[in-house]
Amino acid sequence: MAHLWVHRAEGWEAQELKGKRFNLAGLSLPREREEGREESYDAGNAQRVTHGGPAWLIAAEAGGPPVWALVAARGSNARVNGSPPVAGLRVLSDRDEISIGAATELYFSSESLASVVPFPASGPPERMVRCGRCHQPIGLGDPAVRCPRCALWFHETAKWPCWTYSAECGGLCGQPTALDAGFSWAPED
Ligand SMILES: [Zn+2]
Ligand SMILES: [Zn+2]
Repeated sequence: MAHLWVHRAEGWEAQELKGKRFNLAGLSLPREREEGREESYDAGNAQRVTHGGPAWLIAAEAGGPPVWALVAARGSNARVNGSPPVAGLRVLSDRDEISIGAATELYFSSESLASVVPFPASGPPERMVRCGRCHQPIGLGDPAVRCPRCALWFHETAKWPCWTYSAECGGLCGQPTALDAGFSWAPED
């Protein structure tokens, strides 16, 4: 699952991007509300107006790992790698820096951790999903791992430890298979 690195008082914290929509305003970053707003001068009525429209991260899925994009409302001060999103939209790449106002700094990471889950679907026989290592079918409910990088499925049972059989994914994509590995990348302080 892709995640967002959020800088908190204790340091960088990985926040999972669950579901298909993540409201950046939902991050509890009290400093940002005070300092992150941009003010400009409205000549029309000689009043100070406050900008800072909402921004979301949205996932689009088409079989493989989801593609995440930042969608910003008009007036948002969200930036990706220092630039405002063109027409309010910016597709995110691994390790993109997101800022909202001066005080909120985030990093998007597409890196996911592998986990063992009951295999969710059996499908029709001709479309049976086969293990990326042993090429035997994976049964409904069998403990299995979906590689977070290449999306292949693998058995992961005591008898068939196909995922953890080697240090890297059997699909040769380079994903480490240790189930307690943690993230390989984090922003630097
Ligand atoms: Zn297998
Ligand atoms: Zn893989």
